[in-house]
Amino acid sequence: MQRLLVALGLAVLLACSGKSIGAQNTPKLIREIPWADSGVWLRADTHVHTTFSDGSSTVEEVVSRAEVNGLDVIAITDHLDRNLKAATPAYFAAIEAARRAHPRMIVLAGAEWNIPPWGGDEHAVVLVPRDAESELGAFKAMFDDLDRNSHEPALADDGLRWLEAHATRADVTPVIVYEHPSRRAEQSLQRAQVLERWLSVNSLVVGFSGAPGHQGKAPFGGYKNEMTIDRWDPVAARVGGAWDSLLQDGHDVWAAYAPSDFHNDAPTDAADLWPGEFSSTWLYSPDRTQAGVLRSLRAGSFFADHGQLVREVRISVSTPGLARAAQAGEVARTAASAAVRVDVRFKPASREANVEEVEVIGITRDGARVVANERPTESAATFSTAAPRGGIVFRARGYYTTSDGARLAFYTNPVRVVTE
Ligand SMILES: [Zn+2]
Ligand SMILES: [Zn+2]
Repeated sequence: MQRLLVALGLAVLLACSGKSIGAQNTPKLIREIPWADSGVWLRADTHVHTTFSDGSSTVEEVVSRAEVNGLDVIAITDHLDRNLKAATPAYFAAIEAARRAHPRMIVLAGAEWNIPPWGGDEHAVVLVPRDAESELGAFKAMFDDLDRNSHEPALADDGLRWLEAHATRADVTPVIVYEHPSRRAEQSLQRAQVLERWLSVNSLVVGFSGAPGHQGKAPFGGYKNEMTIDRWDPVAARVGGAWDSLLQDGHDVWAAYAPSDFHNDAPTDAADLWPGEFSSTWLYSPDRTQAGVLRSLRAGSFFADHGQLVREVRISVSTPGLARAAQAGEVARTAASAAVRVDVRFKPASREANVEEVEVIGITRDGARVVANERPTESAATFSTAAPRGGIVFRARGYYTTSDGARLAFYTNPVRVVTE
């Protein structure tokens, strides 16, 4: 309370000092998710392959298994290699047929882009509004980087601009996620520079896949140099890694995202886990539509988990005078040194899913560190601090140990607090 009085006193002093920044000191949500109180939870897998590229199952088989496994949303994202059949009329027809056969499911026709300049080595999932899906055919012809004579980073920039111009419908823009970012990286921190370049072109890239798919494989995700940490990519799992470094630089990018990258279920070491079997990205969406899916991915209104351990995870940040607590993806403004409280709440998905530990990571201009590490009580963990000058970004994760000793995690997207 004392801190609150000090903060209020400071606001009054500044307001009276004639510096015209008084109004700025009122705590306020400066980026708000309009459906923060009225959304619906959708369980999604937005990175899956079929026989239209190198998968072994048909679109119908994949969508029906996704539905049986309890997903609400599935995006078919076959590789855009020009010698394969993604983004062809037959592809869109198969996806349309699956929509008719599974009316409860939201099925997106997306694609996995071999993003320039790495030939086929680096991938990004591209998702577009429903009536812009057929544009992916032209996009593939012009901007996929596999089997080109030369490989130029500028082609990725051109592709991002082209997609924004040709695949935006009303106010719904395409969403791009950098998949398995550290799969071939010497140092996952380099991925921050890659993302920064794309973000300098436009805002289509919303972030990273915080966890790779191929979770049935060893090593997880097929990683070669930098290995996953508790099955998550080091861009997200390493405190101070690529994600935190971007957040520190003021980029609001998301990585609480865990797809299956399902290819096949052959009973070998290469077998994948099916959509909905292990990895989930939970979207808090304005509605049950494809546009809602894209809006929530763009807004950062989602979390992800492995092993179906939790539901309805919310990180919320409150400060005295703020109309309501800020949620994942939102930005709140308050005075430096104002009291700030972080709450992480969740619902255990089953009695066995006993979350043992919740960590809050705080990112300031001095760097990133774990600011709280707690055993949650009644499915919640709370942490209080004072807003440092220069602001702070909070993100959270929780851990759970399976009966066979594996450590599984859920991750939230960040909430940013700026101070003026
Ligand atoms: Zn890939
Ligand atoms: Zn893939």
